[in-house]
Amino acid sequence: STRLSFTEGNVTSVFSLTWQVRHESCGLPIIHHSKYVCDLPTNHRFPMGKFPRVLHFLFKDQVITENQVWVPEIASSDLLSCVINDEGIVTRCRYETGEVKNLLIILQPYEPLIPSPLFTGGTLLAAELALQRGLACSTAGGTHHAFPGFGSGFCLLNDLAVAAKYVSASLKRKVLIVDLDVHQGDGTAFIFKEEPRVFTFSVHCGKNFPLRKQQSDLDISVDDGLEDKDYLSTVEDHLPWLLDTFRPDLVLYDAGVDPHREDELGKLCLTDQGEPIIDLNLHSSISEFLVSTSWSSVPV
Ligand SMILES: [Zn+2]
Repeated sequence: STRLSFTEGNVTSVFSLTWQVRHESCGLPIIHHSKYVCDLPTNHRFPMGKFPRVLHFLFKDQVITENQVWVPEIASSDLLSCVINDEGIVTRCRYETGEVKNLLIILQPYEPLIPSPLFTGGTLLAAELALQRGLACSTAGGTHHAFPGFGSGFCLLNDLAVAAKYVSASLKRKVLIVDLDVHQGDGTAFIFKEEPRVFTFSVHCGKNFPLRKQQSDLDISVDDGLEDKDYLSTVEDHLPWLLDTFRPDLVLYDAGVDPHREDELGKLCLTDQGEPIIDLNLHSSISEFLVSTSWSSVPV
């Protein structure tokens, strides 16, 4: 069993649930681990508490029940090494032992078990389950700025890349990465620039981090201040033909919520109404265009 704690305002609540990998569980699989969060300094900019809060609201709003929650394992170093090079592995080990204090701008080794390999394990499990069942979501991940040799922009390991590499190389399946985080998926684009089985599609704000963009298979750079309708039509201008021509076996969707108008780093103007419409339209595009397509979502 796993205990999950989350903080809401000043009140800390603790769920005590029996979550294990349940092969008999029904309904949409939601992948979550209580260690998706670690302690950060109180004034730290990265809102790590969002990961358990996603799960909290799924329960609170009665969207899911306990038996839909799957607990991932940490991604093995064999799988990680498919994407991370020697330099990256050395850096990661030094980071984990606390030797590197400021490897990332943000995350510091406050716990020996840092969440990043767990995000990656969660995305791998989501990919597996999506291939088996058609759809699965993880409450964390989408760490698309991580490169093979170094981490960047709050991202230590590229969970999307590890999962896409596993599915494309080991399972010989085609993967489409749809990255709608407001920032370009630069690490993912770099990793798959010469990999025909993985197609990277990124819609992002052009005048935003990272300053130096990489080349995805398809990049759509949008202007500051874009609103729901134009954002939606931008995605719809490209996704249908992409699905029709590339015909992926699995879609990994980085469902970043930072195009929202209230995101301090986002610069776009999507609303509470617009964001879910985009998610819903994406899901229906997939089922219309490719019945056999699997789907996996990771918010960052
Ligand atoms: Zn982002």
